[in-house]
Formats: sequence, structure tokens, C-alpha cells
Amino acid sequence: MDVIFLRKPKIVILGAGYGGIMTTVNLQKKLGVNEADITLVNNNDYHYQTTWLHENAAGTLHHDRSRIQINDIIDRSKVNFVQDTVSKIIPEERKVILDNGELTYDYLVVGLGYESETFGIKGLKENAFAIANISSARQIKEHIEYQFAKYSNMREKKDELITIIIGGAGFTGIELVGELANRIPELCQEFDIDRDKVRVVCVEAAPMILPGFDPELVDYARSYLERKGIEFRIGTAIKECTTEGIIVAKDDQVEEIKAGTVIWAAGVRGNGIVEESGFEAMRGRVKVDPYLRAPGHDNVFIVGDSSLMINPENDRPYPPTAQIAMQQGINLASNLAVLIRDSGNLEEFKPDLKGTVCSLGHDDAIGVVFGKKIVGWQAAFMKKVIDNRALLLIGGPMLVLKKGKFNFL
Ligand code: FAD
Ligand code: NAD
Repeated sequence: MDVIFLRKPKIVILGAGYGGIMTTVNLQKKLGVNEADITLVNNNDYHYQTTWLHENAAGTLHHDRSRIQINDIIDRSKVNFVQDTVSKIIPEERKVILDNGELTYDYLVVGLGYESETFGIKGLKENAFAIANISSARQIKEHIEYQFAKYSNMREKKDELITIIIGGAGFTGIELVGELANRIPELCQEFDIDRDKVRVVCVEAAPMILPGFDPELVDYARSYLERKGIEFRIGTAIKECTTEGIIVAKDDQVEEIKAGTVIWAAGVRGNGIVEESGFEAMRGRVKVDPYLRAPGHDNVFIVGDSSLMINPENDRPYPPTAQIAMQQGINLASNLAVLIRDSGNLEEFKPDLKGTVCSLGHDDAIGVVFGKKIVGWQAAFMKKVIDNRALLLIGGPMLVLKKGKFNFL
């Protein structure tokens, strides 16, 4: 049965990450002022480029470059922005509970992103850092600098203070060690520390780094990073994290690696709020229908890392990526306009995967783009093109000029 509104329908969008902000900026282009009440809720007054957070954490890019004021990219005549934290969704009452109030909706878009997945490993939550948002990235940067400062001021040096462990050699772990490989020599110079004393150890449970990625590109990345002083422990699982470092296991061998910094980058799950609100989820991700609707709730749409879709080509979930979150936002904005205007059929969401580029610092990378393998400066160049394109889609050419990456050499 068609829904007939006697007032402007209310669209509430939760989260200003890639999925939420792309839904918002495209919706504001499509709908007139009098067609809908659009409210965007986010815990910060800025959107951040999650895909750049490893650079902020390593200290190779200032965090202000990664954040974009929401009021600079939304049309305030069409979108009402509420800075608040979502604590619960009550779909039966079409209500969202915030820390400082509540909102009702006719259509809800959930784009609350990801959380670190610690798989219940002892001590990780308490003792390891994770790249979760701007604040956590800043904390990692400050912590590493503090450890270097402390070490340089020590009479009897404890070398483990300047050992940094990265758990997981997926794309996040590798992009982070790539940045650290460039940052460490700068820190050594700043704090008068011998580079040979610093260890950056990346621990990966699978038999290779970047499991599942093209083996030739993986070999390139590994030897490039090893030449820059990164140590890899492959086929080695982190079993525990303590205040002193980590306990790892390889085959039957258990070993302790002492470290002043442990960063867990070994997996993500959907935002816990979604699951806690009663939506059926797998590792926090809700299996949505082809129109991005949550099962059993025709007016609740989920985008980005809190959603899950199966790739029919391999029967496995699509990986949670910004690429897909942004495409979902564009598709959903069109479909919401159709629903508001009751003007036709909804369009199914089909990811259009253009490839993957993994940076190894700002000056090198590996990738497969439109089916073609690239490495070195060409891949690093492509990575910046991708980063700038995301800015263009979010905020237009002015945003690219303001925040874009143009250090191509
Ligand atoms: P997010 O971008 O995580 O945004 C969620 C938003 O919701 C944030 O603004 C947050 O502040 C807000 N929020 C969260 N909780 C609340 C709450 N309770 N109340 C109010 N607001 C809330 N993918 C790629 O495709 N390419 C890459 O190169 C790439 N690089 C990456 C590098 C790193 C270091 C990381 C960590 C991930 C990378 N990814 C990349 C994955 C990509 O960043 C995610 O898939 C993407 O950010 C998911 O977008 P999202 O819209 O679901 O949520
Ligand atoms: P991931 O799940 O892709 O990788 C996590 C890695 O940690 C895996 O290799 C896994 O084997 C390893 N691991 C798990 N438990 C471990 C343990 N106990 N000890 C040691 N290693 C362990 O997670 P991610 O790298 O955070 O990526 C999350 C998502 O973000 C993915 O979809 C990824 O594609 C995307 N991403 C993309 C890019 C890019 O396109 N350049 C960059 C970063 C992230």
C-alpha cells in the first residue's frame, strides 16, 4: 500500500561518514526545500576521511586535513544538522534516541560505520590502540611521539619503548606501516635516536600479508617495506595484549614481544548500536536487501560498514570499503527521492568495483585498477587521484582545492 503523507516526510540520516554524507549531499541536490525534512545526525561537527586516518595516526598528515566541517558541505536551507551521539534506534516506534534528545522519522538512513573487532582477545581493548576516528588517530600519534621523547631522556635505555607493533597485515595494517616507515626516520632525527634501535613489527596470522590480494603485488609491498626497516611476523597470531606488549603464537611456539605501542588493525565489525537496536546482524553488519533496506523494515536503510551485501560472483560478503559506502549513498539518495515523490520504481544497488590501491607511504603504492596492476609512483599517483575524487564527490571542486592531495612527486 502506498504511504500518503499529510505533512513533509521526515528523513533522518545517522552518521556523516562516507555513506551518510553521500546520501545527504545527493539528497539535497535532488529534493526541493518543501519536499522533505532532512536531518543529519553526527557526533562531531565534522566529517572525516576515514581512509586517511592511518596518515594522521603515523603523523605524516595533520588531522585537520582529514576533517571537513559539515556546515561547509550541507545546504542548510534543506538539511538540519544535529550534533549529537546516537544511543539507540527503536524501529517499532520510528524513533532514534540521542544522548541529548530524540528524533522521529518516516525514513531512516543508518550510516554509523565500523568498530574495531577484537575477537575477544585478552587485553586488546585495554592495552592496544585502534584507528577508529580522528581522536584515536591523534592519540596514537601523540603516544608514539611521547615514547620517543621518553626514550631519548632515559639514562638506562629500554629499547622496547620505541618498538611499535601493528596487529594485522590487511590493508589498514599495511597502509599504516607504510606511513610509519616514512615517519620513523623523522622521529629519530627529532629525538636524536639511532634508527636501528626502533622496531616496527607487523604481525599477521595468515600465511601472507594482504591475504587474498595479487601475490606479485604482495611480494612488491613486502620487500619494499622490509627495505625500509619493517619486520613482518607472518603466520603468527596475536593471542594476548598486556601492558608490556603482546603474546604471539606460531605453530606451537609462544613468544612475548615487548613494545611501548601496540596498534590493533586486524579487523572491523559494524557499529554495535545497530545490533543492540535489534537488527539482525553478523559481526555488527546487517544483511540488507538490494535497495539497502534492513530486513522487515521497509523504511530503514543501512549504508556503509554497518551493512552487508553478498557478492554473487564468489558468494562472500563485499568487503566494507569507502568505495562501496559512497556508491550506496548515491543510489540511496535517488531511491529516497523516488519514494518521497512516489515517482516510479526503486533502483537496485549494484557495486561498481573499480579496483583497490594500497598505499605504502605517500610515495609508493600497489594496486589493481580497472583490472590492471600498478606499482610505484604510478600507483601512488592513482591513490591521490582516488582521494581527491572522494573529496570532489563530497564537496565539489572547492573542497578538492582546500583539502586535496597534490604532492604527486
Ligand atoms: P565511517 O566512515 O566509519 O563514518 C561513520 C560516521 O558515523 C562518522 O562520522 C562517525 O563520527 C559517526 N558516528 C559513529 N558512531 C556514532 C554515534 N553513535 N552517533 C553519531 N555519530 C556516530 N576503503 C576504501 O574503499 N579505500 C581505502 O583506501 C580505504 N582506506 C582505509 C584506511 C583506513 C585507515 C581505514 C580504517 C579504513 C579504510 N577504508 C578504505 C575503509 C573505509 O574507510 C570504510 O569502509 C568507510 O569509512 C565506511 O564508511 P561508513 O560511511 O560506513 O562509516
Ligand atoms: P581486514 O579484515 O581486511 O584485515 C585484518 C587482518 O588481520 C587480516 O589479514 C587477518 O588475517 C589479520 N588478523 C586477524 N586476527 C589476527 C590475529 N589475532 N593476529 C594477527 N593477525 C590477525 O581488516 P582491515 O585491514 O582493517 O580492513 C578493513 C576494511 O577496510 C577492508 O574491507 C579493507 O578492504 C578496507 N580497507 C581498504 C583499504 C584500501 O582500499 N586501500 C585500506 C584500508 C582498509
